[in-house]
Amino acid sequence: MIPTLADAEARDAGDQLGHFRARFELPPEVIYLDGNSLGALPLETPDRLEQVVREQWGKGLIGSWNTARWIEAPQTVGGKIAQLIGAAPDEVIVADSTSVNLYKLLAAALLADAAKHIILTEPGNFPTDLYIARGLAALRPGVSVRTVSRDEITAAAGPETLVLLTHVHYKTGARFDLAETTRAIRARGGTIVWDLSHSVGAVPLALGDARVELAVGCGYKYLNGGPGAPAFLYVARHLQTTLHSPLTGWMGHAAPFAFDNDYAPAPDLRRFLCGTPPILGIAALDVGVDLTLEAGMPAVARKSSQLCDLFIACLDETVELALITPRDSEARGSHVSYAHPEGYAVMQALIARGIIGDFRAPDVIRFGITPLYTRFADVWHAARILREILADRAWDNQAYRTRAAVT
Ligand SMILES: *Cc1c(COP(=O)(O)O)cnc(C)c1O
Repeated sequence: MIPTLADAEARDAGDQLGHFRARFELPPEVIYLDGNSLGALPLETPDRLEQVVREQWGKGLIGSWNTARWIEAPQTVGGKIAQLIGAAPDEVIVADSTSVNLYKLLAAALLADAAKHIILTEPGNFPTDLYIARGLAALRPGVSVRTVSRDEITAAAGPETLVLLTHVHYKTGARFDLAETTRAIRARGGTIVWDLSHSVGAVPLALGDARVELAVGCGYKYLNGGPGAPAFLYVARHLQTTLHSPLTGWMGHAAPFAFDNDYAPAPDLRRFLCGTPPILGIAALDVGVDLTLEAGMPAVARKSSQLCDLFIACLDETVELALITPRDSEARGSHVSYAHPEGYAVMQALIARGIIGDFRAPDVIRFGITPLYTRFADVWHAARILREILADRAWDNQAYRTRAAVT
């Protein structure tokens, strides 16, 4: 039986995170189910940016590197993200984009261990992960990229492999068991770099307990840091002085303002910085991270799984849709995806009716369920409208077939 609107509204009435929705700018006429691609704007962000721009930059000028502690911002905000992922504050730093951080950590892991000459990942991993791995391999004679299906990854890992996995799959939402996969790969002598882009701020993470050594993650999805927000990287403390960034920029130097001719890496995670930190971007990210910390990851993760369960239940009898996301909430992230042969047109028809999700080629419609600002009633209405669009074939319209550059 399809849950009723009254069921959904009762859940909202009892929702301890319900008040967080009012902390975001959300157009009233849309139901936004794409926060896994670009998180919504926190109300406080424009004010914070205004203050950083007008006061710190406008009045403080260059002195703000010291007085407003801009120079420490990568570590300060990294330390907050650490709390969301079960790491120590000095194990996370904000820097660059996820793609660049992947490059830095993969290269550092290869440089640290001459035995590693295969980057092992799964076909269908997020494109940037595959492309960065191949680009890096092309620069390192003898290094190659190998892809095997996710069930075969562990068996294919060995002392020669550097494994690169995305914890929550961007399309299907399937989630690896972080601790078990890390344990199995390390036990075989492999090293593993985790991409947490679809996990941070969405699912519970305990990197320290899981004995994760290397990870990267994204700032503009569930952390609500804004378009192109800086990303972060994690290096377990015991590796911080043995690994070296391949991008030896001056901000990773032990004493950037000594202006030495020779490079000497910082004695801590700052060695993975490269150029001057993007202060405006970090300020916006800080606001988003603070909101998630205030809500608390256990509550956020609990609501995520309840919202996804409700959405799936509302669509269970819809024969046109094939659920490709695991039903078990422990085995998925915070988005729900369905395959439909006309997925692109179906999503366009949904967007025309104010339901914003996205489409991932070739046939996947994807709904990001962001617990901080999504109501149970939102999910219920989105499912109802999707059922209607399928029932009356509203998607079967030429106007919904023309593809935009960003899907
Ligand atoms: C979103 C995402 C990225 C983003 O990389 P950028 O460098 O910010 O474009 C990387 N990896 C995964 C798995 C993602 O989902």
